[in-house]
Amino acid sequence: MHVLIVGCGVIGVSTAWYLARGGATVTVVERREGPSLETSFANGSMLTPSLSAPWNSPGVWLTVLKYLGREEAALLVRLAAFPALLAWSYRFLRNSRPDRHEVSFRKNLKLCNYSIEIMAEIRSETAIEYEAALAGVMEVCRDEAAMRRGREHSATLATHRVPVEELGAEAVVDMEPALEAIQHELAGGFFYPADEVGDAYKFSCRLQAQAERRGAAFRFGESVERLLTHSGRLRGVRLRGGEEIEADQIVVAAGSYTPGLVRPLGVRVPVCPAKGYSLTAPMPEGLPVPGHAVLDDRYKAGVVPLGGRRIRVGGTVEFTGFNLELSSRRVANLRRLLAGVLPRHAERIPVDEMRPWCGLRPASPDGVPILGAGGMDGLSLATGHGHLGWSMAAGTGKALAQQLLGGRRDFPLAGYELSRFG
Ligand SMILES: Cc1cc2nc3c(=O)[nH]c(=O)nc-3n(C[C@H](O)[C@H](O)[C@H](O)COP(=O)(O)OP(=O)(O)OC[C@H]3O[C@@H](n4cnc5c(N)ncnc54)[C@H](O)[C@@H]3O)c2cc1C
Repeated sequence: MHVLIVGCGVIGVSTAWYLARGGATVTVVERREGPSLETSFANGSMLTPSLSAPWNSPGVWLTVLKYLGREEAALLVRLAAFPALLAWSYRFLRNSRPDRHEVSFRKNLKLCNYSIEIMAEIRSETAIEYEAALAGVMEVCRDEAAMRRGREHSATLATHRVPVEELGAEAVVDMEPALEAIQHELAGGFFYPADEVGDAYKFSCRLQAQAERRGAAFRFGESVERLLTHSGRLRGVRLRGGEEIEADQIVVAAGSYTPGLVRPLGVRVPVCPAKGYSLTAPMPEGLPVPGHAVLDDRYKAGVVPLGGRRIRVGGTVEFTGFNLELSSRRVANLRRLLAGVLPRHAERIPVDEMRPWCGLRPASPDGVPILGAGGMDGLSLATGHGHLGWSMAAGTGKALAQQLLGGRRDFPLAGYELSRFG
């Protein structure tokens, strides 16, 4: 069986690996010059079952209204993006009903947990190095209101058997001495031991090389212009230069660009781009290297040590269409976050050494990825992972590959398919 994958982000490459490992003939077409140069490039680097809750928690509309157009907001909706977002937003808000949110949360958690298991399988089978750190993630809270929110969140996670430890301010610093400078500002925090950290870009490059060794072909620098059908079935793709490639199955894993590729087939995929920012800087010398990623409840963003030599700050959400310009005010927000969590480190990093980046998370209206059957024979989808694409990549790749290969299915994709949107 020949499977063609459109897009070599962290989702496409994980799928390619598991398909090649399972014996399929695999071709991956990626418009950029290598793997994961778009949204998967400098993301927040955390694999977080603890953050499985979709963004549209009950009452989210109040937050959206409160922060509409406000540059400093962790969740920003730009007024200009509003018209294009109307249908998607309606579904987004409908899915914030407590019963629906709970169902989506469970689906995400199940896939995140499975994915953490599959990451371990990939590490043991390939020995790839991607600055993985398995020490868990910490969250710091500045006031009692944040602690209360954290406790509610912990209680929900506990019902799903996700381990959480509540910590007082002193215990936070005992566990993470790099936070000593802000101990007096902390009300306490939470520790999520099952969460992990790793560089999604390095992971993608190394896994791509492994998949290639297993026979997968990667066509970098080639853009899929359109999907080709014959008698109501997908039969291949046409590249921008005119070349056509035939395949038995096509997986569209093109992140936020997936809807545009399948729309001419009459397939509507409700995914919209949710922009996020990161800053990456060298770890300053002579100061304690943080042993954990630290989430700050106040900014809804994280400060993440990568391999002891780099530090990354990532997060925030902005609905502004496909705009990839770097807003200096949004970048300044992340610099403030770094200074708020690790003030002594931030002081030692010159501003011009903080590399800003932004990417477009493919966000679905219920916060759950869209995986598997794509509403036409021969078409599969792997998109809509939103803020959890790195956390869910390995599990997505294996589950989808098993579905396409037939036979054993460890993680059935019912409930994740496009058909749930009716
Ligand atoms: C600031 C930020 C922080 C984040 N932090 C985290 C985090 O800590 N943990 C986490 O789990 N997730 C995080 N995410 C989310 C995660 O990065 C995404 O969910 C994930 O990268 C999506 O991967 P993907 O493969 O679907 O998309 P992409 O990485 O965008 O890959 C899609 C690929 O398709 C290619 N493509 C598109 N159209 C075509 C075409 N016509 N022809 C050929 N190729 C095409 C693109 O070039 C691209 O390489 C974060 C995202 C952002 C922006």
